[in-house]
Amino acid sequence: MNFEQFSLDPRLNAGIKGAGYSTPTPIQQQAIPVALEGRDILGLAQTGTGKTAAFVLPILQRLTKGQLRQVRALIVAPTRELAEQINQTIVTLGKQTKLRSVTVYGGVGKMPQVDALRRGAEIVVACPGRLLDLIDAGAIDLSHVELLVLDEADRMCDMGFLPDIKRILRHLPTKRQTLFFSATMPEDIHTLAGSILREPVTVQIGIMAPVHTVAHALFPVNEGHKGKLLMALLREIPTERVLIFTRTKRRARNLAEDLQHQGYRVAALQGNMAQNRRQEAITGFRQGKYDILVATDIAARGIDVAEITHVINFDMPDTVDAYTHRIGRTGRAEQTGDAFTFTLPGDEAMVRDIEKVLGSRIERRRLTGFDYGTATVAQTQSANKPAGRRDQPRNDQRGTSSRQPAYSSRYAQPAARQQQGRRDAAAR
Ligand code: AMP
Repeated sequence: MNFEQFSLDPRLNAGIKGAGYSTPTPIQQQAIPVALEGRDILGLAQTGTGKTAAFVLPILQRLTKGQLRQVRALIVAPTRELAEQINQTIVTLGKQTKLRSVTVYGGVGKMPQVDALRRGAEIVVACPGRLLDLIDAGAIDLSHVELLVLDEADRMCDMGFLPDIKRILRHLPTKRQTLFFSATMPEDIHTLAGSILREPVTVQIGIMAPVHTVAHALFPVNEGHKGKLLMALLREIPTERVLIFTRTKRRARNLAEDLQHQGYRVAALQGNMAQNRRQEAITGFRQGKYDILVATDIAARGIDVAEITHVINFDMPDTVDAYTHRIGRTGRAEQTGDAFTFTLPGDEAMVRDIEKVLGSRIERRRLTGFDYGTATVAQTQSANKPAGRRDQPRNDQRGTSSRQPAYSSRYAQPAARQQQGRRDAAAR
């Protein structure tokens, strides 16, 4: 099974090759032929299944013929991060075509978006609020839209966008193809889908939880023990490519330095780094120069590295959305991955929110042999030690607790400062 079977435009096949895809994922196998026939789709699929390319490729195929520089495809998504990811997929897969896409979302200036629309584009990827602003301002003409995608429809409804979506629909031609994607299908989403789709074909992949190929686990720990727990975990479990998230830029930098001192091949990725150093970190991670990348949420946006085996939340994310995004970096495209989260006693409310979205309780784990009381790292002969690349210390410093850096002083902070830190977006 390969992409040739879809008889796509050769320029798109070149884009697929450039993206490094060789075999269509199950959702792509199901959805692409149906979408190419012009049928409506009700897609039950979550992030990580390859659903973006499943709707982007048929859109690009259709738009390679016909009028240029008028908006013929509209993709509506709940968050700007998702809009940017979709846009990136369009850019990658459509690289050899002359097609243009514009992203439209709030929180940034309107004028660049208005100017880009004025210059002409065939595809608009939009979040509902800003799209309505631009419609109201007469800055966007949707009267030629042939194709509508609603992505992550359940999330849009959860975020209160249902009235906005209904308003947007009123500005679109009724004669169009609609592709509707949702990870879950509660009653209101089912009703919405029923009201806008015409004789849809249902395509459904996997179970209904964010990234089903990911195993989640929580590691309750105190702030002062986080660093040593991380070192112990990395020694005990067979990891290959690990993405670690910290709450602030400074913590990312410090942690990367400490891991480097322990002999790991590691890079930091945070907003204070110059663009070329950031790129070097991402490319190095992608190409295997680094096994570990320590990143902040913002800096990690848009990282697309296959084969991340572990995402470790050294610090709890601020929102459920951020959690889903972080763990969405592992278990991509049908691979398996682990998502470990270090939790402090004060993180329970966030844990409950995450569990609600996952629909199940996340396993709480304790690392055998790790002394949570005094944070003395156990030596590697613990009974649960599996075989793996990290079995051997990389240099003589590792595994010798006397030479461990003073994590408590570098990472510990009083609870009040932690709360403040959480609000301090500038530090990220
Ligand atoms: P998505 O579910 O659209 O967010 O895609 C998840 C990840 O899978 C992204 O990193 C894509 O680049 C990647 N991907 C999509 N389709 C394929 C494919 N056919 N082969 C390999 N990777 C893919």
